[in-house]
Amino acid sequence: MEINPHLPPSFWDNVEKTDSCWEWTGTKNKPVNGYGWFHLNGKQQLAHRLICQAIPPGMCVLHRCDNPGCVNPDHLFFGTKQDNARDCLAKGRWVGKSRVTVKDVEDIRKEARSQVVAKALAEKYGVTLSTINQIQNHHTWKRVDTGPKLDHEREVSRGEEHYNAKLMKEQVLDIRSRPWVRGAAKLLAAEFGVTVPTIYAIRYGQIWRDAFPEGEAPPRYGVKGGKAPRPKIEKPAKPPKLPKKKALKVPNPRVARKEKIAARRAKYLATQSS
Ligand SMILES: [Zn+2]
Repeated sequence: MEINPHLPPSFWDNVEKTDSCWEWTGTKNKPVNGYGWFHLNGKQQLAHRLICQAIPPGMCVLHRCDNPGCVNPDHLFFGTKQDNARDCLAKGRWVGKSRVTVKDVEDIRKEARSQVVAKALAEKYGVTLSTINQIQNHHTWKRVDTGPKLDHEREVSRGEEHYNAKLMKEQVLDIRSRPWVRGAAKLLAAEFGVTVPTIYAIRYGQIWRDAFPEGEAPPRYGVKGGKAPRPKIEKPAKPPKLPKKKALKVPNPRVARKEKIAARRAKYLATQSS
């Protein structure tokens, strides 16, 4: 790398040459990536770029050494943006909010997939369970090449292996064996420390489909051929019916009088015809 001959002496006041790296002692954008800054021609510029003679258009200046504050031309080389991204990843200083490094990602992917392990990893790296799961699923950190997915790195982990599983298979079988009476879902939810919808989802076979007693798995929910059959609810026995009370008939005096007259009239007519 050729050194830019047009740099002012004030630039070199910020450079401390050593046998290997030329340390930039001036301003650095420390919290982000530690590159040296220099004010020239009315704007802040990157020190390790200023020191280069002619940068091909669109190219980045990358460090051979793992020291962003270094401006030694022998430690610098040109690369594309993609090269820069790969370089940053490889050196574990991807600029952003990531809490894990490439090394961490490689380590996390080697671990088994279970809630216990995921919890331990989440605690170790100070991230959420979901972050661990996404790394292991290769949904995030796709650029980190850890080879083909291992057996335990399959897309969806099920049952107890699910990163957020709250229950064990035995517990699910237990829930399915319980009588399904009125109010059972609420009681089971409280007993197993899950939500009522979880109990229903277990009951209707929407989740934990690998935890059924042999040959009892219902058809898949939403698949052509029908919904999972609604389990019958055992209703409590009804009390015996009491005989209906007959309404007391209160005679209407006007009607009674009319009937009386009609009866007398009929009697009279009968005597007349005979
Ligand atoms: Zn260096």
